[in-house]
Amino acid sequence: MIRLYDTNQRRKVDFVPLEEGKVSMYVCGPTVYNRIHIGNARTFISFDMIRRYLQWRGFDVTFVQNVTDVDDKIIARALEEGRSAQDVAREYTEAFIADMRAAGVADPTIRPKATEEINTMIALVQTLVERGHAYEVEGDVYFSVRSDAHYGHLSGRNVDEMEAGHRELRADGQGLEDRKRDPLDFALWKAAKPGEPSWASPWGEGRPGWHIECSAMSQKYLGLPFDIHGGGADLVFPHHENECAQSECACGGQFARYWMHSGMLQVNSEKMSKSLGNFMLLHDVLEDARPQALRMLMLQTHYRSPLDFSVARMDEADAALSRIETALQNMRWLCDNSHAGAPDTVDDAQIRDYQKQATEGFRAAMDDDFNAPAALGCIFTLVNQMNIATAGASLSTADAEQVIGAHDCIVELLDVLGIALEEGSQTDYPAETVELAARLAGYGGSDPMEATEALIEARALAKAEKDWARADTIRDDMIALGFLIEDTPQGAKVTYQG
Ligand code: AMP
Ligand code: ZN
Repeated sequence: MIRLYDTNQRRKVDFVPLEEGKVSMYVCGPTVYNRIHIGNARTFISFDMIRRYLQWRGFDVTFVQNVTDVDDKIIARALEEGRSAQDVAREYTEAFIADMRAAGVADPTIRPKATEEINTMIALVQTLVERGHAYEVEGDVYFSVRSDAHYGHLSGRNVDEMEAGHRELRADGQGLEDRKRDPLDFALWKAAKPGEPSWASPWGEGRPGWHIECSAMSQKYLGLPFDIHGGGADLVFPHHENECAQSECACGGQFARYWMHSGMLQVNSEKMSKSLGNFMLLHDVLEDARPQALRMLMLQTHYRSPLDFSVARMDEADAALSRIETALQNMRWLCDNSHAGAPDTVDDAQIRDYQKQATEGFRAAMDDDFNAPAALGCIFTLVNQMNIATAGASLSTADAEQVIGAHDCIVELLDVLGIALEEGSQTDYPAETVELAARLAGYGGSDPMEATEALIEARALAKAEKDWARADTIRDDMIALGFLIEDTPQGAKVTYQG
């Protein structure tokens, strides 16, 4: 049984989807006026991990994520740059999709855009007006917060206290919002201003408020109620509170069955945000770091806890990943060089046991509110156990079967977390190998991997021909490029250290 922390119930609860074997999920997407920063990416990576795990546990997951492509910030940016809001939105929607793919985040099942769903939103606003939860003032439509008896439940706020806060603001002469009947009310529809994108509606030309977008799209694509609604913890209030109020007042039933929120990524204990200016764009970070290492760093902290980002932590995550890759490479090499007659040096039953414990531990950790750091711990334990079990070993064909089983288990579990290790991904051999192989091994191609193989073969041949000088030159030049070469009874074992 999977348990998850539900923001609405403020505790961990059993996760029972509405329909057996299926999960419907909605995660608020970005406002596309800039490239996303790694704080945004943390939230999207967290929900990608959750989605992947649910799939691994056999659920058929429908994952919807909107793109907010009409908004004040997009309009402001367009004005600044002297181009249309559509142009700005198009550019950053494409950049967002590219960034997400680069970070190994799977595409959502459906990715609706606000500007393509205006009629759905208008219909929802109309329902709210008809039901007495919304009212029009000069082309604007507002949601009446006092008309919703449950308002404030999700974020744990009391409407009277919120009202008192607003009165204080008013005493200072700020926050005067004359058009609204109540300062707590929020816009569902905004009357058009000159030069801004707008659409025809029963209240005249205008555009939708932000909150109504998610209510309209989640209902359209998932139906109500749906299973999991997610986003960053900063969205609980007002965005999710407002989504919940709109949807439940319009349909008279439940909106989202479980609410999940990821913690904020911080720099020096301060939330990373565009407005604070302390942000690093995901795109820039991935110029220097591999996506798997970024995900490793992110998943080493529980998704609900704050995460302090630093370049030093990024390097540590990369080193941790390299340790796993080296171990996997080692196992592959041992298996490639196994043979039927080799002495039995590893305990097959023990390896099976290690693998079983890792898989069960991983599952127990992830079932407990998607505890990825503990799940990673299980993978690391298996890596260490395999390093010890195979140190100095030579494998029989039967041993190799067990070792490759453990190898594949590590790869699979990492893949569930979205940390995809391509076969031989550590063999990102330097480009200089091509030139070296051309000079010393007669290699005519341009692939560093092939070049490395040609060098290893040329050295083996030189040794067979007792041309020690030549063999040593090849070895020394490869070492100079960062290769580690160990001669073993099964032949030369070559790893690249970078
Ligand atoms: P926005 O485009 O500002 O609506 O943000 C898109 C998503 O990123 C939302 O789910 C936010 O909650 C999330 N987000 C924004 N800043 C951070 C941060 N520093 N750490 C984690 N998530 C964040
Ligand atoms: Zn939303």
